[in-house]
Amino acid sequence: MEVCLLEHTPEPDSLIAAAARICYSDVAARDLREREVGRLSVRLLKDLWRSGHHSPFEHASFTFGVDGLSRVTSHQLVRHRLASFSQQSQRYVKMDRAEVVTPPSIASDVEAYTLFREQSLAAYETYKSLVAMGIPAEDARFILPHGWETRLVLTMNARELHHFFDLRLCRRAQWEIRELARLMLGECRKAAPVTFDLAGPSCVRTGRCLESRPCGDPYKNMEDLLATDKKQANQNQAE
Ligand SMILES: Cc1cc2nc3c(=O)[nH]c(=O)nc-3n(C[C@H](O)[C@H](O)[C@H](O)COP(=O)(O)OP(=O)(O)OC[C@H]3O[C@@H](n4cnc5c(N)ncnc54)[C@H](O)[C@@H]3O)c2cc1C
Repeated sequence: MEVCLLEHTPEPDSLIAAAARICYSDVAARDLREREVGRLSVRLLKDLWRSGHHSPFEHASFTFGVDGLSRVTSHQLVRHRLASFSQQSQRYVKMDRAEVVTPPSIASDVEAYTLFREQSLAAYETYKSLVAMGIPAEDARFILPHGWETRLVLTMNARELHHFFDLRLCRRAQWEIRELARLMLGECRKAAPVTFDLAGPSCVRTGRCLESRPCGDPYKNMEDLLATDKKQANQNQAE
């Protein structure tokens, strides 16, 4: 999977701080924004987030390009209703290569992998035969596996990203969306370090799990989360 931050609001941390300050100031919005540029209002942003004043975080938005994600995971992703999505269409784009994401549990078992690969290729061959018979691609695609690769562009604001990271970096989320969230968070932390310093699942943010069915293996901190999942991702790639 490849994730790239295509665009984001310039200086997101300072825009969010300026938006928050307007609540308590009679200075013009333009002047407030200029004052904030290049300044790191760490305390203000952290206090805002901790006290639940989250609306200023909606002013900064982040647009990602994602390639090589399975349709299983894009289906989970689009449940996040406050995000905007544009996804490659299997109606208009003919699938010209067998591209299925292999879960690590299958990739690490030779017998399971052989079976998975055979069935994926058989489904793809059937797809091609149906298209050759004149069946529209939009109908032939019904035979393709759920794990078929897709690509999409998605936009979320910083508030929604926090919510997404909370749910999808948790070990209770599935491995592929967790990997997507980890890669997105890495990009967000470069673009808006203060805003995303407090992001992550409840074990990382608060030191305790808020899930009704805990995973039993909480992350110790953000470094642990980033390092653990990176190690897992490398293993997945190697397999
Ligand atoms: C580990 C895990 C397992 C899951 N398992 C299942 C499952 O088995 N089956 C299943 O169907 N889903 C499942 N989901 C998906 C889950 O139920 C949510 O649909 C998904 O996580 C998006 O969350 P959300 O609705 O909070 O987020 P968003 O849609 O991103 O919304 C963000 C927030 O905006 C507010 N909001 C948005 N829309 C409305 C609205 N219409 N009314 C009121 N407030 C709104 C809410 O506060 C919401 O939390 C699972 C998710 C996770 C993380």
